[in-house]
Amino acid sequence: MGELGGKVALVTGAARGIGRAVAEVFVREGAAVMIADLAGSDGAATAATLCDMGGQAAYTAADVTQDAEAMVAATVKYFGRLDILVNNAGIFYNADALATSFDDWLKAVDVIFYGAFHCSRAAGRVMVAQGQGGRIVNVSSINGFLGMGQSSHYNTAKGAVDQLTRCLAVEWAPHNILINGVAPGFVDTPMSIVDGVNELETPDFQEIYVRRRRIPLARAAQPTEIAEAVCFLASPRCSYITGHTIVVDGGLSVTF
Ligand code: NDP
Repeated sequence: MGELGGKVALVTGAARGIGRAVAEVFVREGAAVMIADLAGSDGAATAATLCDMGGQAAYTAADVTQDAEAMVAATVKYFGRLDILVNNAGIFYNADALATSFDDWLKAVDVIFYGAFHCSRAAGRVMVAQGQGGRIVNVSSINGFLGMGQSSHYNTAKGAVDQLTRCLAVEWAPHNILINGVAPGFVDTPMSIVDGVNELETPDFQEIYVRRRRIPLARAAQPTEIAEAVCFLASPRCSYITGHTIVVDGGLSVTF
């Protein structure tokens, strides 16, 4: 049995990208996984693939901004309990702080920050009632502690998620619910395609981040490399870390 044997996990935004990789690693380690993603996403196909691999997985169509209670209820109904929540769902778009309407600016904050709060609260209630502790892992970003143009919405939301990690870790420690984060740098997922351009393939990215080693490891991460860090924080091996966010960025944020 893997290190998550007998555990039930809920992963938001898990139809593709990092969330899907987390679901795959969790299933490999023996967890039953509920994939929560937007209606019309590839969530059902992802769950079917995981089941074909011999894992336990299911899909619930859910929007983190509206359906937090429903996705947690669906997980408990389907698998009987909830031990692990991964707040992974996120969106990115460029937003000029002067030109963007407040409603458009707020969309990223709504999904990334409020979404993580709503899902954490819904999951936390179940974990407290179960009385057997739990794990919450927030997929943050190095943008949460770095500045960037056209990105005050996204970076602010990610910074707020890191604060949520710290504060809920303190508040829910008496219930043995450990809450940590993983902050990726560049990751090779569909999110890297902004306004139709894959930023990882642009000459600028290749020159600055790869050839000149602005990323010391000289490449973007694969989603599985983020998922392995999430898995560690969700596992019993992580028993004395709470309230922290681990940076997984190939060394990008330690250089200048
Ligand atoms: P993707 O865009 O590949 O996947 C995100 C998933 O989240 C999609 O399936 C998307 O659904 C889903 N989603 C979006 N909005 C909602 C919502 N409101 N409710 C439920 N699901 C939703 O992104 P990544 O895998 O790259 O990103 C995962 C996380 O990692 C995000 O939080 C992101 O900010 C973070 N991150 C990513 C980095 C990167 O370089 N890729 C770097 C640092 C952090 P749909 O496809 O239907 O829109």
